[in-house]
Amino acid sequence: PTFKSLGLIDPLLEAIAQLNYTSPSDIQKAALPHALEGRDIIGVASTGSGKTAAFALPILQKLWEEPKGLFACVLAPTRELAFQISQQFESLGAAMGVRCATIIGGVDLVSQQVALAKRPHIVVATPGRLQEHLEKTKGFSLRSLKFLSQVFDEADRLLDLDFGPMIDKILKLIPKERTTYLFSATMTTKVAKLQRASLSNPVRVEV
Ligand code: AMP
Repeated sequence: PTFKSLGLIDPLLEAIAQLNYTSPSDIQKAALPHALEGRDIIGVASTGSGKTAAFALPILQKLWEEPKGLFACVLAPTRELAFQISQQFESLGAAMGVRCATIIGGVDLVSQQVALAKRPHIVVATPGRLQEHLEKTKGFSLRSLKFLSQVFDEADRLLDLDFGPMIDKILKLIPKERTTYLFSATMTTKVAKLQRASLSNPVRVEV
């Protein structure tokens, strides 16, 4: 399949052309048809496989159809990965005017509060700092969220760093009716546990 035959809309096809992605990667071929149908996805794919676009494209496609409120939250284990994911959302969403906020630790809280007050469509966050904003930042909530995406890199560091309890708390603050993606480089018992806690009848894709 091509990006076009998978059913992506023109603004996304334009951005994909700008980025010189000539054809979908294996994980994108496997995940996009299910994701565009609205299914929850559990994806097992290594770094560099194109897994970010595999979940970013369906989120952006839906955002184009109903651009309302804080749309999606992406949880990432590290600051670097959060930045990379934000950058991909911004470049893939360039033709759509997507606003993205990166909410990570080690950065001034107030400047992030300013970013959140601008009503981003997408928040890419590390769990600890996200939780801090949920407690301290007036007017910020995840109540209108349509998508949650959880990304784990090698060795599920997101869980090893004791993020488990934080993710549990965040899960309690977001709508039950949502679409959830979980992408991990490896499938471990901790990831499987989180999958059962947060995904609903997911399609499993593996490359
Ligand atoms: P990721 O696995 O999400 O970290 O992506 C690895 C890199 O591959 C990123 O720099 C993307 O910009 C790039 N990429 C993602 N999808 C494609 C594609 N279909 N063709 C070429 N490059 C891609």
